[in-house]
Amino acid sequence: MRPVAARTRGRSGEHSLVLDKRHAWRGGVPLRPYDFRAEAQTGLVTRHSLKVIPLGGLGAIGKNMMVLEYGDACLVLDAGLMFPDDDMLGIDLVLPDFSYIVENKKRVLGVILTHGHEDHVGALPYLLKEVDAPVYGTRLTLGLVNAKLGEHGLQGKVSLNEVSSAKPLSLGPFTIEFLDVTHSIPDGVGFGIHTPVGTIIHTGDFKLDQTPIDNRPTSMQKFAELGSKGVLLLMSDSTNADSPGFTSPERGVGRALEGIFALAPGRVIVASFASHIHRIQQVMDTCDKYGRSLAVIGRSMVKNVNIAQNLGASSRSWTPVTSTDGRWPSSAAAWSRTSTSPRTWAISRYPRGCSSSPTTST
Ligand SMILES: [Zn+2]
Repeated sequence: MRPVAARTRGRSGEHSLVLDKRHAWRGGVPLRPYDFRAEAQTGLVTRHSLKVIPLGGLGAIGKNMMVLEYGDACLVLDAGLMFPDDDMLGIDLVLPDFSYIVENKKRVLGVILTHGHEDHVGALPYLLKEVDAPVYGTRLTLGLVNAKLGEHGLQGKVSLNEVSSAKPLSLGPFTIEFLDVTHSIPDGVGFGIHTPVGTIIHTGDFKLDQTPIDNRPTSMQKFAELGSKGVLLLMSDSTNADSPGFTSPERGVGRALEGIFALAPGRVIVASFASHIHRIQQVMDTCDKYGRSLAVIGRSMVKNVNIAQNLGASSRSWTPVTSTDGRWPSSAAAWSRTSTSPRTWAISRYPRGCSSSPTTST
């Protein structure tokens, strides 16, 4: 059956997609696949439209946030921020307009997270200051979120609930399956969201890497399984979708690093996103292999390395040692890119003499 779809202008100020279809659900569990006879037998049928309300992330990199609404139930998917463009002087962070969620906060069942990148979780503390809702995410994602909540005085005040691909989650009329996906940060998931009107697939950020660093490839089998049962709506990551070819495997970066580390007579400087845990792991491994010490610049980078190691995402032992004079060992490797905005990169301090002391490990 084809859903009736219409574009409307919601109170959030952004366009929403409304999916309307005859449906049935009982006790918070959708009757799947849709069955008119079951609908007639239950006598508990209510008809609603399913509203898909994007609050950011479409046509841009950042502010990934979306609301699924069915009857009185609202489910929030991700709560990301965007780093300012060069012409946004004086602006530190750009948040999605989530006033629609605040206005309807009593109806919010929870926030489900795909992964721990800032453009997917960075706005979460700001949202949770205004909306008391449980948060659901995988282990590393929640570890990163918990540290972020601590910076905002919210640690211990928010219900954080760990999820995995092993167990679906039921929230009101929604049943969510978590689908493993490979990404530049470990523990990423997509969602298979079963609603009373059909199944929605939300891929989250993903890439197809057959040899991922954490040996956790994108679960093509699960995606195929859901696809074979019928999908009402697919919402897919489209970054670089218009670029032909394949994304290189992350392990190729490790091989390239080895070539550089083996031959460089002095320091090697590596720029990376602070959240790129797989790449950090590879830099650490290469440092170990070639006996180089490691200097880490940037608050987010130091924080994320510690979190990843505490949660076991990065297996190498690493002991941070604070440098008091700002001088680096001549054999050090360093990395420091923490955001998408060049003017906030810690690496930009390097040619100016590094105003803050780097943290080093040997
Ligand atoms: Zn991402």
